[in-house]
Amino acid sequence: MNWISNYVRPTINSLFSRREVPENLWTKCDECGTMLFHRELSDNLNVCTSCNHHMAITARDRFKAMFDGGIFSEVDVPAPVADPLHFKDQKKYPDRMKAAVKKTGEKEAMLVVEGEILRTPIVAAGQDFSFMGGSMSMYVGNAIIAAAERAIETGRPLVLFSAAGGARMQEGILGLMQMPRTTIAVEMLKEAGLPYIVVLTHPTTGGVTASYAMLGDVQIAEPNALIGFAGARVIEQTIREKLPEGFQRAEYLLDHGMLDRVTHRKDMKGELVTIIRMLMGMPPAVQGDLPAPEPVAEAEPAEPAK
Ligand SMILES: [Zn+2]
Repeated sequence: MNWISNYVRPTINSLFSRREVPENLWTKCDECGTMLFHRELSDNLNVCTSCNHHMAITARDRFKAMFDGGIFSEVDVPAPVADPLHFKDQKKYPDRMKAAVKKTGEKEAMLVVEGEILRTPIVAAGQDFSFMGGSMSMYVGNAIIAAAERAIETGRPLVLFSAAGGARMQEGILGLMQMPRTTIAVEMLKEAGLPYIVVLTHPTTGGVTASYAMLGDVQIAEPNALIGFAGARVIEQTIREKLPEGFQRAEYLLDHGMLDRVTHRKDMKGELVTIIRMLMGMPPAVQGDLPAPEPVAEAEPAEPAK
């Protein structure tokens, strides 16, 4: 049309977009400040290659890396009533939900799947902190119940990866009611004699820590994960005492008997398989590829006639 839209605007746009590209390719470690190339970081399961700081990873990315061949299938979760309280703060709850779905590409804060890790069948549930702080909603409650029911139906253990700031305030008492509901789901697994293993990731706090995230037969955490019920500042103000260093961190909880293991993300798969196979009375997993089949003896080629 004119030189402004044909020439000036594209030039300005290209200047800005050129500047954005390098920023997207690099991530700065929150802990040590090292700039990490995005490919290198995702290959290392979002763990800093320089200081081993465990950054957030979505449930889907974790499952892609954990399951054999990156293959798993999703378990259906019944959808609850949307926005029963017609909750509104600065934004309406349905609008917040829409924004979270758009941002994460997930339906809700909990993903339930089934598949095999080192040929060990499991059902797994993963909570996504990037979806409204991984908050415990009616859907999350339904997801845990669906996971437990699927595990019982197929005779598989349930492995749950937690990450949450607590119950979803937009669902009020209905969010809090998921504490007893999920506790019953865990109880169902125990009655069926199936292992329930919890992997606590950074951060797991609030009502989630007061229910399903602390009821595992084996409690594992990722290094330096923040795990607690109330925040450190609230506790300090209540007891009027300075809290020790590393309070509510995975290593502190391990030292004080709240956890069984603190495991690096790259070792998690192997460790889960070992624990599950021991608890399920299965033989140890074959690491790596299965041995190649014996070559079929071929008939000796006939000697060429002279
Ligand atoms: Zn680092």
